[in-house]
Amino acid sequence: MPFENIPYYEIENTYKRETKRGEDLVIEAIDIDEGKRITNDIILKTKSGKSVSFAGFLKDKVWKFQYDPAAPRVLKSRLAKFCCFPQHKLIFYSTLDQDGALLGLLHEIGHANLEKENKGSKYLEKQGFNPLYEYIQSPENQELTEDDIHGRGENPRDYIAAPYLMVVGGENLQFRHKMFIPKDLLIKYGKLHAENERKSWAFALNTLRKLKQKGIILEENLKDLKSLEKLIYGGLISYEKNYKDAYSPEMNYFTKGKKF
Ligand SMILES: [Zn+2]
Repeated sequence: MPFENIPYYEIENTYKRETKRGEDLVIEAIDIDEGKRITNDIILKTKSGKSVSFAGFLKDKVWKFQYDPAAPRVLKSRLAKFCCFPQHKLIFYSTLDQDGALLGLLHEIGHANLEKENKGSKYLEKQGFNPLYEYIQSPENQELTEDDIHGRGENPRDYIAAPYLMVVGGENLQFRHKMFIPKDLLIKYGKLHAENERKSWAFALNTLRKLKQKGIILEENLKDLKSLEKLIYGGLISYEKNYKDAYSPEMNYFTKGKKF
């Protein structure tokens, strides 16, 4: 491991943690009074004396960061775990000592900023989130059979017999037993979900580029565009695989069929 975490140490009722990334340092001041390991900011200090505030990238300053070693993985393979909870205005993060961790953090900030642009809960409606959620939550829809669909004068081909899609914590999905879900509802949701992911990655990459222009290299070991793209592609393809496996091979909205 090229980087290392320095254990927490106490200063004036807050806990401070430092993560060494090469010769740079990432600092979090965590308020233990809240008892929730919440920090207002995560700051990178470079060896050349430059400093980057991650909270500075947030459009809505209400958002905070919460250290949670059990946060779900965003970049499947080998990387740190991050997650964004719009309901609580919290970005969960775990270890910051791995390659791609700061990029992952920027990705979650990208999600938070998208949420701000779309004005809170309206975002969910706009994103076609609630119609799908409402549909799958209905016990009547859960019990729907092919005969019922014929009985309504509809074509079962307009439905996908899919695993029950349970929405947890804003955007995390869990798959349960199978049910008939209208194809157009799934396609709409899948496209919007993919758009949300792609836009958040675009934000992360753009920010990385802007910092580079200021002489700040955020991901020392991921300097070239190819290795960054590979990393992001890994994140997108894992979502896409869920959609393809559960619904239809044509649901390639995350990568748009592009290969790296
Ligand atoms: Zn994401």
